[in-house]
Amino acid sequence: MSGQIGAASSKPPLILYTKPSITELETRYAADAAANGWGERCYDYINRFEAAFKDHVGTSFAIATSSCTGALHMGMAALGIGPGDEVILADTNWIASAAPIIHLGARPVFVDIRPDSWCIDPDLVEAAITPRTKAILAVHLYGNLCDMECLLAIGEAHSIPVIEDAAEAIGSEYFGRRAGSMGRFGAFSFHGTKTVTTGEGGMLVTNDPVLYEQVLTLSNHGRSRGQSKQFWPDIVGFKYKMSNIQAALGCAQMERIESLIRRKREIFYYYRGRLRDLRGVVMNPEPSNVVNGAWMPTVVFDKAAGVTREKLCSAFAAENIDARAFFHPLSGLPMFERVPKNRNASDIPTRAINLPSYHDMTDQEQDRVVKTIQKVMGRL
Ligand SMILES: *Cc1c(COP(=O)(O)O)cnc(C)c1O
Repeated sequence: MSGQIGAASSKPPLILYTKPSITELETRYAADAAANGWGERCYDYINRFEAAFKDHVGTSFAIATSSCTGALHMGMAALGIGPGDEVILADTNWIASAAPIIHLGARPVFVDIRPDSWCIDPDLVEAAITPRTKAILAVHLYGNLCDMECLLAIGEAHSIPVIEDAAEAIGSEYFGRRAGSMGRFGAFSFHGTKTVTTGEGGMLVTNDPVLYEQVLTLSNHGRSRGQSKQFWPDIVGFKYKMSNIQAALGCAQMERIESLIRRKREIFYYYRGRLRDLRGVVMNPEPSNVVNGAWMPTVVFDKAAGVTREKLCSAFAAENIDARAFFHPLSGLPMFERVPKNRNASDIPTRAINLPSYHDMTDQEQDRVVKTIQKVMGRL
């Protein structure tokens, strides 16, 4: 029997850190778009997806894009951000939030995160403002929310727009307002790892009609809606559009969005319940005024626990579990200037890890993740 040989070398089955939930509905819509979504119907799913998404988030306008990075790039371009300007954002981030700033010739100014929310520290934002500051970029890390009340007040006091990168915050709410709906504009991602997916894709949402028109023009290679002359761009724009086939996937995901969010939150609560008895471990915060969409359940260990990123990564790898490292500070990457005073951003990732979370994850799979953490902490 081959079982013996298999058993000797076999690892437990792989647990991915995230994967999409694709049902018959998604494949039916995508197949319909592929078969019929051309000619006069080539924008049907796009229009429907934009309408459903702005309804969900609670904004007046939405523009589907090929990525969150593209949405950020166009939104910041529409705000007039350019060479010599500065945009303040948290040091703890994925590079997608910073790259559009660089592409516009501006400079990202990295400030430290708060130890409780792992999001940008508003006090440090205020201190980092200069005459060149053109925007404050609030990134809601792992579904945790930035202190929007504080950031919006700072923005208002200095006449600087606050913008939201809500790629990780589908399902997150702040005093009853959806993440992404509070700033001058919000940007979302539908990358395959995100709570709602179209494979690749993004969305820009806003309540500002002027900004909406500007981004619409930018996203159509600079051709404004009022321009009747054919092939006549008014400005140099971008090409960050979403296809109708991707939007078809998005429409199906929007019909299921409440269940997609609910499941993310259930998985988070299951981990939190199972890890509650472990001293020296904290997970994503959910203050009373906030709903955490729980995109990425994350554990941070007290220094005293002696649990390092390296120990965590090797323990999870040994169990065939695809847990991920907490974001390195962007200022630690070779293309950026170091900012050694950002202590939380440098320190927290050295004793933290993202836990797997996806719609179809089973309790048994979550138990394997919990056991691995218990093992690392010497409790098993
Ligand atoms: C995923 C992600 C992005 C990038 O999204 P794309 O759609 O891949 O461009 C940007 N910002 C944050 C916070 C993200 O998590």
